[in-house]
Amino acid sequence: MEVVTTIEQVRKQVKSWRQSGYSIGLVPTMGFLHEGHQSLMAAAKKDNQKVIVTIFVNPIQFGPSEDLASYPRDLERDKIACEKMGVDLIFCPSASEMYTAHFNSYVDVNGLTDALCGKKRPGHFKGVCTVVAKLFNITQPNRAYFGQKDAQQLAVIKRMVKDLNFDIDIIGCPIVRESDGLAKSSRNSYLSPNERIAAICLYQAIELANLMIKQGERSVAIIDAAMHSVIAKQPLAKIDYIEFVDQQTLKSVELLEQDSLCALAVFIGKTRLIDNFIYQHQHS
Ligand code: AMP
Repeated sequence: MEVVTTIEQVRKQVKSWRQSGYSIGLVPTMGFLHEGHQSLMAAAKKDNQKVIVTIFVNPIQFGPSEDLASYPRDLERDKIACEKMGVDLIFCPSASEMYTAHFNSYVDVNGLTDALCGKKRPGHFKGVCTVVAKLFNITQPNRAYFGQKDAQQLAVIKRMVKDLNFDIDIIGCPIVRESDGLAKSSRNSYLSPNERIAAICLYQAIELANLMIKQGERSVAIIDAAMHSVIAKQPLAKIDYIEFVDQQTLKSVELLEQDSLCALAVFIGKTRLIDNFIYQHQHS
């Protein structure tokens, strides 16, 4: 496994792989890797001959009051995780490698970014799309892997790839959870022991929603109220939003339909956690 920090080094490696006819899978991450990231690597490994993982805490996707400085980092541990997964190349650039002195070009996907987290984190998806577009251009992958955990990000990236004609397949991968249901996240490391226990309320709300759906409930208002009440019982939790939208358009729905997405963001203490589920008919 190679670990490189410059765009030139990546281009050189990618060029030689392309000349050999190898397919390339890309897994973009911000590091502090966990089993969620590793599931994307496993999927990339299965589909492609070469796998690139990028590790870059992208400054332009963080708001001024967000956690850029404190975002957890551990490159040495990340290297071991990637090696174990059979990754071929890690690209871990500095911020100045990615954003040179007069950098001034951005990719802004409209519409989809006004909803959900976009409302709460202005400029976030512009930062995400810009860095992902740059990583696509640098690594030239056949396929790129994103987690369903960040459902809006996945929808926005799919839109960007269609709109800007990137010749890349975007593969969405299922949410990987802890044994008690908490979605794995690098930000879980911020949680104190009490907060870690409280954080289960996101999944408890999702489980209750799924139970109600199983029993035939389709009204968003009713399911939403039940989810709110589960989380409200938890004193350390503060709901940022719970929303029900179409998975692709991210427009609100009032009744659950095939592929409706329920997305939630909840503060546990100071840590903002996100989670979601997609409603799919169970064919029996
Ligand atoms: P991040 O490092 O948090 O930017 O995440 C990098 C990629 O890993 C994104 O595509 C995330 O959606 C994905 N990811 C993060 N957590 C999970 C998880 N628990 N399950 C599946 N994918 C995840």
